[in-house]
Amino acid sequence: MISCKKASRLASEQLERNLSLRERYLLRLHLAYCAGCRRMEKQFVFLRQATQSWMNHKD
Ligand SMILES: [Zn+2]
Repeated sequence: MISCKKASRLASEQLERNLSLRERYLLRLHLAYCAGCRRMEKQFVFLRQATQSWMNHKD
C-alpha cells in the first residue's frame, strides 16, 4: 500500500513519463480505495489537457 502523498506524486508523474508496471499497479490499487486521490488524478488530467490546449492555441 502506498500513501496519498506517493499516489499523488505518481499521478502527476504519469503525465510526464511512463510509469513502470509496478508503479502503475500501486497507483491503480490506491485509487481503487481512495476517493480523494481519484478526484486529484482527474484534476491532474484536466489541468494537463487544459494546459496543452492553451499551448496549442498560443499562436
Ligand atoms: Zn489517496
